[in-house]
Amino acid sequence: STEPAAEIVRRLTDQGIDIVRIGYPDLIGTERGKDVLVERLPDVMEHGVAFCRAVYYTSPQADVVPVPGGLDQGLPDISIRPDLSTLVPLPWEPGVAACLGDTVDPAEGGPFPEAPREVVRAAATRLAELGLTGVVGPELEYFLLEPDGSGGWRRYDDAPGNVYVAGTKGDRGSHILRTLRALRPMDLGVTMGNHEFSGGQFEINLHHGEAVDAADRAFRFKSAIKELARRDGLLATFMAKPFNDEGGSGFHAHLSCADAAGRNVFADPAGPYGLSQTAMYAIGGVLAHAPALAALLNPTINSYKRFGPDTLAPWLIDWGLDNRSAMVRVPPERGAASRFEVRLGDASANPYIGIAGLLAAAYLGIRDRVEPPAPLEGYGYDTSRSPMLPSSLPEALDALAADDALGEVLGKEFTTAYLAYKRNEVERFSQFVTDWEFREYAYHL
Ligand code: GLU
Ligand code: MG
Ligand code: MG
Repeated sequence: STEPAAEIVRRLTDQGIDIVRIGYPDLIGTERGKDVLVERLPDVMEHGVAFCRAVYYTSPQADVVPVPGGLDQGLPDISIRPDLSTLVPLPWEPGVAACLGDTVDPAEGGPFPEAPREVVRAAATRLAELGLTGVVGPELEYFLLEPDGSGGWRRYDDAPGNVYVAGTKGDRGSHILRTLRALRPMDLGVTMGNHEFSGGQFEINLHHGEAVDAADRAFRFKSAIKELARRDGLLATFMAKPFNDEGGSGFHAHLSCADAAGRNVFADPAGPYGLSQTAMYAIGGVLAHAPALAALLNPTINSYKRFGPDTLAPWLIDWGLDNRSAMVRVPPERGAASRFEVRLGDASANPYIGIAGLLAAAYLGIRDRVEPPAPLEGYGYDTSRSPMLPSSLPEALDALAADDALGEVLGKEFTTAYLAYKRNEVERFSQFVTDWEFREYAYHL
């Protein structure tokens, strides 16, 4: 915006805003940030707020993960600049407006190439070179947990049996209704919500939009859900597969591409299945790069426990026409609503990184004219079919490391940092003795 800083401060003050919260995603997609008194905003707009770069690489267990350019360089600064185009009053915190931050490398002066927002921008820019805008509609599932009375968490209002889209059954606190109302003023494009298949599991859909904006909204949505749950004394988790006896949580992403006039280029009544050749190539790209995409869309050790037959999560690398047992589903709508739904991602994915991966794969498919195989017919959970998705995070990370084309689009700095971070996670896990091992071995062996 070209509005002078002093004007912005006056306008916010008139609206009763006295603090601006600047938030941004770290590498794994959790929100970091700083709260700034509104009168300090002009200074922050000019110089940014400096942080230790290690914030990007600090694990949830608070280990600073050795990533090139971090610990090895003595933990230098990064600087965050508020992106005031994203400023919105926080509905549940009177006097506070929140915005996203953009990252600047103070040494280089330019954007920090590993910052998740920059990674999705980089992928969107490549698609723009083909005259296309990536359009994404995110759907996020999550579990709501309540205190179990002995220091742990159990599924919120865990109703027995089938609670899928079942209204108030399994939602005694009207979580969905209250959440929709709380989020409406935030301009996140929240459209609707429902109870999911599992006890305590919910889904909320976001309107489709240009990819960077869709990633911003998905990121802010996840933070908001966690925050609202905390305020209710609950825990919202986007972990991929929190329970052995229930299905996991997906991050489905509906993808299409628009031309300069805003027309959906995936539509073509005369094309295969009523889709354009461009749409077919984009599907081809997502399938061809699926093993590497798993490292971005299924980013945790736990993620691979969500996959499996009869889960509505994917099992094989395949696509189908309105087929929920395939990794990519083409919903029945055509014309301006022509799109495909990638069902690969789980809710734990950093929305920026996941969406960046999808755009990059679609771009490569279109650029390299990758024809998809024939669509899946029938029920896809046939364990004799192939190709399979990676069965573990290490396998997916190897696929990402080997996918030079995808790595080139996402940027070498990003893939190097991401692989270093995630390989460290795998290493930490492999050294850790789990409850399962104790149950399996301690008594009998
Ligand atoms: N929970 C399923 C998943 O993990 C998706 C269920 C649905 O189709 O809504 O992807
Ligand atoms: Mg769902
Ligand atoms: Mg879906």
